[in-house]
Order: sequence, then C-alpha cells, then structure tokens
Amino acid sequence: MSQPTTRLDRVTGTVASIGYASGPLFILDGGDGAYAPSGDPAVETKRLRAALARSAAEIAELMAKSNDETAAILEFQIAMIEDDNLSDPAFAAITTGADAATAWTDALLAEVHGYEAAEDAYFAARSADLRDISNRVLRALSGATDRQPPPGAILHARDLTPTQFLSIDWKQGGGIALGAGSSASHVAMLARSRGVPMLVGTGPIAVATGDFVLLDAERGRLDILPDTEARHEFLKASTAHLHLVQAARSHLRDPAVTADGAPVEVLVNIAEPAEADTIDIATCDGIGLMRTEFLFRHGLPDEETQYAAYRRVIEWAAGKPVTIRTVDAGGDKPVPGYTVEETNPFLGLRGIRLSLSRPEIFRVQIRALLRASFTGNVKVMLPMISALSEYTAAMNLFREVSEELNAAGIPHDFPLIGIMVEVPAVAIHPEPFRDVAFFSIGSNDLAQYVMAAGRDNGAVAALNDVRHPAILSLIHHVANYGERYGIPVGLCGDAAGDPAAIPALIASGLRALSVSPAQLPLAKAAIARTRTTDSAE
Ligand code: PEP
Ligand code: MG
Repeated sequence: MSQPTTRLDRVTGTVASIGYASGPLFILDGGDGAYAPSGDPAVETKRLRAALARSAAEIAELMAKSNDETAAILEFQIAMIEDDNLSDPAFAAITTGADAATAWTDALLAEVHGYEAAEDAYFAARSADLRDISNRVLRALSGATDRQPPPGAILHARDLTPTQFLSIDWKQGGGIALGAGSSASHVAMLARSRGVPMLVGTGPIAVATGDFVLLDAERGRLDILPDTEARHEFLKASTAHLHLVQAARSHLRDPAVTADGAPVEVLVNIAEPAEADTIDIATCDGIGLMRTEFLFRHGLPDEETQYAAYRRVIEWAAGKPVTIRTVDAGGDKPVPGYTVEETNPFLGLRGIRLSLSRPEIFRVQIRALLRASFTGNVKVMLPMISALSEYTAAMNLFREVSEELNAAGIPHDFPLIGIMVEVPAVAIHPEPFRDVAFFSIGSNDLAQYVMAAGRDNGAVAALNDVRHPAILSLIHHVANYGERYGIPVGLCGDAAGDPAAIPALIASGLRALSVSPAQLPLAKAAIARTRTTDSAE
C-alpha cells in the first residue's frame, strides 16, 4: 500500500449508497492478458490440460464457500470441465495445428449453440454455465485470475455487475467508487441493502491499486492520497455520521410515527432469503418486496428451490406479511435461457410481460407461491403491469394452478395479489385496477419511465429524482385513488429509504414505505422528524 503523502486529489461523484470507508484502492478493470500461442502442439496440449485443471480447482474453491443452491451449479460446472466429450474436440484441433485458446473457444462455441437451440428451457439455460466455463478456462490459459480485492479495500472500476458485487465478501468493510454507473442501478441497490458505501459517476481517475483513499459517500467525494487536513475532516464527518446512525439504531424497535403522530408502516426489501436473517423482525412491519430474480440468477429454478426460499422468509417473518414479487426478469436483469435479446430491453419483454409469454415457466413459480401461501402471511405482487389484461391473465393462471393443486390434494392457499405501479400508464390511470388487492409504487422504474432517463445510465442520473413534481404528482394521484377506494398503497422503490425523499413521499399521502435493510434506521428517524403537513417539495 502506498504511504499517504501531502498530495491531495479529490474527485467527486454521486452518492449511490451512503456511508464512509477508508483503505487501499483496488482497481478491478483490466487484468485479462491475451493468449500467446507457442506454435508447438505438445505445449498447447499441456497448457490446455493445465488450464482445465486450474479452472476445476478454482470452481471447487468457490464451491467450498457457497450455499447449497450455488454449490449445485458449480458442481455441474466441474462435471462439464472434467467431461472428455467436451474437451476432446479441442485436443483434436490442437493436433491439427490450432492453438489451445482457439481450439477451446471453437469447441465450446459449438457446444453452447447446441444448448441454446434446445427446446427445453431448463436445458437451454445451461448454455450460460458453458459460457462461464469457457471464459474461465480462457482466463486460466492467458494467465489472468479472478482477482479479489483485499478485505476492506475501496474498489474502483468503470462499472460493476451485480454478480461481481456478490462475489466479494463485504462483511470485512470496504466501499465502491465507479467511474460510470448509476445510483438507480441494481448493483447500487445491492450496495444499499448491504450497507456498502458507494459513489458512482466519478469519471476516469488517476489512481493505482494500493493508493490509500478516503471514500465519503455522504458528500460524494473520494480523496486520493489524502493529506492530514483531509484525513482529519474525514474522521470528523464519518464519526458524526456514525453517531447519527447509532442514535437512529437505538430507536429501531419503536414503531414509525411522524412528528405529528401519523403511523407509517415500514417494511423491508430483500433480494435473497439470507438477507432476512440480518434483520430483527421487531424492527419492521414485514417484507414489502421480496425480489425473486436471485432465484433465476443461474437459470430457471425448479418448484422446490423456489418453495424453500419463500418458506425460509415466511418463517422468519413470524406472521408479519411477506410480499413476494413474481420474477421481474428482463430490462437490466437478463436470465440466460429465459430473457430475449432486445434493442431496448427496458421497454420490452420484461416482468409480467415475459412471465405471461412463457406460461410453462410462470406456472412453476405460481405453484411454489400458492404452496408457500398456505404456510404464512403471503402477498404476491406482479411487476411491470401496464394493462388490465395482464393482471387478468395472471389471475387466471393463478386460479388454474390453484385448481390443479386442489385436484392433486396439495395444500395451498390463494394469497392477496397486488400490482407494482411503475409504468406511467397505470399511475396516470389506475381506474381499471379497482379490484386489485394492493398497489406498490416502484419509484425506480416509474422515475425512469416518466423522465425518459435510463436508471442504469449515470449520464442522465440527475434527471431520475423522485422529487420531481411530475413524479410526485403521480404518487399523490395513486395514493389518493387508493384511499378513495380502500386499496392499500405503499412505495417500495429505493426512494422509500432515502431520508431526503421521505418528507415528500409522506406529503404525497403515502403511509407505507418499504426500504432496504441498511436504510431502516435512518428512514425511521427521518419519518419521526417529518410532519404530514410538510410541503412535498
Ligand atoms: C422499482 O422499480 O421501484 C422497484 C422496486 O423494482 P426494481 O427496482 O426491482 O425494478
Ligand atoms: Mg421496478
């Protein structure tokens, strides 16, 4: 690690996840060397064998640190690497003059295409595993490794994928500063839910791995090789922030009530069942959004895998509501073998549209949801609804599957089924949805669609503010409509946990907010400071 010097470089960025971190910088981009062929088939054969062995060992190492679900996927990958049927064509190509990297790429590509063409969706989804294996072996051939940042490092990259984020152990602290990125992206959401401080949009910065940095993800600064004065100021600000969080934590079990006495329901958003284990159920009113995309991360999950995941959260909730959203794949959340290639995926086959286009896959999730509903206080939420016909088609499928379960004598229950209000058409004109059990406003998508500003695009991130009068007026309209017709309305977008946005949301008439776990303390404290009569802007 470089020693701090008196030089101070400060870059600024947008806060995507509030907090402070200091430590060595770790640059994630780069590191993949190109393959240099030897020209000798015997050497190429030896190299490919070594790369296969090294890849299998890397995966076995990952397996040892994984949960059962992930371990099963990794086990499949090891079996593929060790399968001679997969590597024989590559070794044969080497004997006729191909280099190891080309021979391996060609052999794998042929196999990937075979899988992708498969009729069976579960089989087709395996092509993603093959691509993963292919890349890993190529990295092993070119001498590059899966480089992990040291514990507590501040990670810098142009952008980061959710999978890269999840492969890092954040329990040891650390933070993120991205050159590009957006605070509305899914990786930003993950950072907020894990409490990892994160800045986006710093632009390119002149740094080296190991440089000592101070990440101030409250005021949006990254100080590189800070001087004594900058360190002192950082310590003061981070300590003040810590005190604020600690004070808020000491009231965490108190019910959320505004300064003028209006109760506000505060629920939490989770993306994986394990996240619930970190939350004391007494500190919230249940789960306002359980995203189920995590289950589809490595392809299509079977009914039992889904059922087990839902059950785990239902048990944790001990009778409080658990709102499970049917899979919202597509957009920036592709699922290999399920989502389709589109030029404009945010406006394409996403969420409920995709589910309805693949009823055989949707039915598997519905069976798991109906069975899970029998075991607790489950609500189901449909994402990306834009037309009543979608809601009706989904309800029909739920009824059909329920009848099937009845006929088979399988215990199940019909949950309350509500919709996400995240497409402007529904927020502007909610009237067709009068019979829906509840509305949950998805402000992340509502904002991007109202402002025509992609949530994953840092260049237009400033436009994506829930406090824009156009968005607030829609929220107010939906809250009013719900109140008039007795339809519960909440908001589960990331703005719900943002202390700066909470007064405006309460002024818009909302009394139920679902926030990421790390935002609970400051969100409840913000509610306690707010008066319902405060102005929305
Ligand atoms: C939203 O759009 O606000 C939302 C909660 O859903 P997601 O962020 O998963 O699209
Ligand atoms: Mg959404």
